[in-house]
Parts: sequence; structure tokens; C-alpha cells
Amino acid sequence: MNKKQNPETICVQAGWQPKKGEPRVLPIYQSTTFKYETSEQMAQLFDLEAEGYFYTRLQNPTNDFVAAKIAALEGGAGAMLTSSGQAATFYAIFNICNAGDHVVSASTIYGGTFNLFAVTMKKLGIEFTFVDQEAPAEDIRKVFRPNTKALFAESISNPGMNVLDIEKFANIAHSEGVPLIVDNTFPTPINCRPFDWGADIIIHSTTKYMDGHAISLGGAIVDGGKFDWNAHSDKYPGLTQPDESYHGLTYTESFGKTAYLTKAVVQLMRDLGSAQSPQNAFLLNVGLETLHLRMQRHCENAQKVAEYLESRPEIAWVNYPGLKSNKYYDRAKKYMPNGTCGVMTFGLKGGRDVSVKFMDSLQFIAIVTHVADARTCVLHPASHTHRQLSDDQLKAAGVPADLIRLSVGIENANDIIEDIEQALKQIL
Ligand SMILES: *Cc1c(COP(=O)(O)O)cnc(C)c1O
Repeated sequence: MNKKQNPETICVQAGWQPKKGEPRVLPIYQSTTFKYETSEQMAQLFDLEAEGYFYTRLQNPTNDFVAAKIAALEGGAGAMLTSSGQAATFYAIFNICNAGDHVVSASTIYGGTFNLFAVTMKKLGIEFTFVDQEAPAEDIRKVFRPNTKALFAESISNPGMNVLDIEKFANIAHSEGVPLIVDNTFPTPINCRPFDWGADIIIHSTTKYMDGHAISLGGAIVDGGKFDWNAHSDKYPGLTQPDESYHGLTYTESFGKTAYLTKAVVQLMRDLGSAQSPQNAFLLNVGLETLHLRMQRHCENAQKVAEYLESRPEIAWVNYPGLKSNKYYDRAKKYMPNGTCGVMTFGLKGGRDVSVKFMDSLQFIAIVTHVADARTCVLHPASHTHRQLSDDQLKAAGVPADLIRLSVGIENANDIIEDIEQALKQIL
């Protein structure tokens, strides 16, 4: 891939590059398996001595062409697709952690990720410490232990909309000798490139903006290829010592810059099997072709909507990093100079009941448990995802009872504002 290409060109052109007489458009390799001429050829594949496809649970060409496009967008050494964002997060951590290990994570992360870390991975013997990402670096460093294997955070947190100080986090991780793993789902590589600021591994829920049409679940892991696993060999024996399940092959020796990624594919995907279907990868690729156009429009629309909301007397507060009043405004300008994303949160004066009335009064803006796609939608955690919590418990969880999450789509901004305006009139 030509490194000098701009993101817009990468969105359209990277990945599948047909040769003479091949289909112009990425084909769906709808095949679980691949044919070889001799037993010896197949044996070499199983020993990782030759490159090639043999079973779609491990690798499939359609998926790999799409992963290559995502790697190019992020500026990484390589990437893989997973069946969901959750699978990507799990693999990204589990690839370098065993029972008895420890991970430090920002506390303001996606609820599904928090549950995976605090409940499910804990059952596997992997312990997490959650930190306030705004705490001074010295304080965050204090929670690291000899068995800490990674630092994790979201570039823009869902739904808190906290913008991560990526350089600060990268410095903390590297001074503790561990990689920084960043979930870059919300800004996407169009608006933020965490590798440029020191991140080592990037993950995505491609279900959101990358697909962009709410049609296919998926995830991705991108390997920056720069973390020196051998420099911390005792911490990462899975990468730096022989893997008996591949006749004693050592990932860092055999695969260099993509040791981490290769291990995740040939070991975790082999054994756990959260592969993305080639159909979904094809749909994801169609989404990626317009990602640059859509992100721009999401940001333009969200900026107009956020400014409108801030001007209204019915609104108690608006949380959008593109607003000058936002505490992350300057940081967002540094890490995401072209804009953040289309998601924001806000509160209506009057709390829970007023929020419900407002949402029920919306016309084309839909109430859905989704975020970050072409259609504008809303969610009220106090009535939906967090409905079992009291007002005090909601506040403690960082989702006050009046919080409405609005995901601004790519419709006409005036129409979105008009729908909001007529709903605001209904709550009077
Ligand atoms: C949705 C989401 C996930 C989980 O992704 P799925 O594709 O739903 O499994 C992870 N991180 C963030 C920031 C998300 O918004």
C-alpha cells in the first residue's frame, strides 16, 4: 500500500486490488475451505511454514482484504476482523494475558466492555483496575503491578464523550513497559489516528461508523507493529517463547512486526473462533468506501445540532466535544482536528419524565439501542439500558437520570433540528 495516499483514497481503493481479468469489486469468498494439490502443501500451512488459506475460521480472503484497508487507514502493520467489537476487545487483551495477570483500564468505557472486563474476564482470572483517565500520570502509574500487561482506554468514550489524552496514556503505558490498547470506534481513523500519538494496538466495533448503516456486526484489531515485546520478554512469554501448539514456533522470531496480530489469528481465532462472516466483511467494505464522506457529514450535523441544543432554554446541559463550552474542546482540536463524531449527550430540565415525553414525541428520530449510523437516533439509559437503577445509582454510574444520548445521522441538519424542536414544544 502506498503510504502517501490520503484517507479518502484509502477508503475507496485500499484492500482488494484486482489484477487482469479479476472482478473490479471485492468478491465474497463464500467458502469455508480451500483446495490444495498435495498433502505436503497442506501440512506446511498447518505448521505456518507457508502462507495460504485453508479454513475460514482462521482466515478468509474477503475478510483479509477488508482488514488490510482498516490497517492502512490506521497506519498499522496489519489487522484482523472479528465477529463483533466485543470479540475484538476480548482477543486484544486475552492475546497477552493469562490467569493471574492484571490490566489497567480507563473507567469511562463502553458498558459492554466494562462488563467483559469486570465480570467475565475476572472469572478467567484476569483482574482489572479502573482509573480516572483525567487523574495525574503519577497517580495512574501507582496502580500498575509487576503482573500488569496492558493499559486500555477509548479515544472518545461511549457514552461519556470523554476525549482521551492519548499521548499521556501512551507515556504511562511505555514507562510501565506495557502496550496501550485504544478503542477507536467513535472517531474512526478518519478523525483520529491513535498510532500517531503512541498507541500500540487499536480495536474497533466496526458495527458503528465503519459499517455505518447498522447492517452488520463486526470488530477489528489493528497491530501498530512498534511495541517491542522482546524488550519485556518475561511479561509476554506467549509471544517471545515457543508455542507448543505450533511445534515450538516463536511469534516474535517468525513474524516480527506482526507477532501480536499473527498470534491472535492463528491461536485465538483457531481456538475461540469469533470469525466475521465474509458476507458481513463485504458489507463492511461497502461502508468503508464512504466512511470519509459520512464522518464529515456526521460532524457537521452534530455541530449544528449541539449548538442548537445549547441555545434552547429547555436544555439543562449539552456534552459534545465540538462545543467551545466543552471541557475537552482543546484536546479534541489537538487529537481530532477535523471533528470528533456524531454522538452527544444532553439533559432536559425536569429530569426523567420530561425526557421520556420528549423522546416519545420525536418523529423520524428513532429510539433504538444503537449508535453511530446513518440514521439519527436517541437512547435514554435511565429508561432503557440502566432502567433498574435509582436516580442516585445512575449518577454514580455517570449516567444521570436526565441523560439522553443522541447519535446524529447524515440526514439534513435542519430536518433533525426541526424534529427536535417540535418534540421540545410537546414537553411544555
Ligand atoms: C458498540 C461498542 C463496542 C462493542 O461492539 P459490538 O460490535 O457491539 O460488539 C465496543 N466499544 C465501543 C466504543 C462501542 O461503541
